[in-house]
Amino acid sequence: MCEAARELERVAEEVRACRRCPLHAHRTNAVPGEGNPCARVMLIGEAPGYNEDLHGRPFVGAAGNLLNEMLKLAGLSREAVFITNVVKCRPPGNREPSEEEKEACKPFLIRQLRAIKPEIVVCLGRHSAGVVFGMAGAKFSSIMSARGTVRLLRVAGLEVKCLPTLHPAAALYNPRLRGLIEADFRLLGQLASGGAGGLERWL
Ligand code: SF4
Repeated sequence: MCEAARELERVAEEVRACRRCPLHAHRTNAVPGEGNPCARVMLIGEAPGYNEDLHGRPFVGAAGNLLNEMLKLAGLSREAVFITNVVKCRPPGNREPSEEEKEACKPFLIRQLRAIKPEIVVCLGRHSAGVVFGMAGAKFSSIMSARGTVRLLRVAGLEVKCLPTLHPAAALYNPRLRGLIEADFRLLGQLASGGAGGLERWL
């Protein structure tokens, strides 16, 4: 097992035992994240939902199926990437995570980023983009204005290409948003294959 995989396993064990924020009291299973420890692409969502909490795995419900389709559009498989969330335990009733909960969980995300050292970070939704932009000291106003644009950010001591997009669940509630997510994942495909110009530098 490589050092990245060992560190990810240590993080996962700590997450499963974590009581740093009130969300621990509501979880069936914590959801540390999963995927390739050497992934070039890391995807960060918001929080586990009902199915994720039940299985202890990220993006396994309807939003997960849509994410798999989007990854296919980008020419990527689940096995090639690493997927996690900003908070690792399900907020009750699928409410949004609070600022305090996101802050309490951030050290785990930072350790995952440092272990994996991804070239590309895809932020799925406004909570993820808000946390990642915040770590880089970059301005974030809304996911609709940030999505679809790649920025170079310095996050957790790494320089990453950051691509914010909508959370796949948004397209389940509003199918008209699906086209925007598809466009963003096509851009991800170009980025992952070494293409895509027009990077904005936000360092
Ligand atoms: Fe710990 Fe994060 Fe779960 Fe809160 S959400 S209990 S900080 S692992």
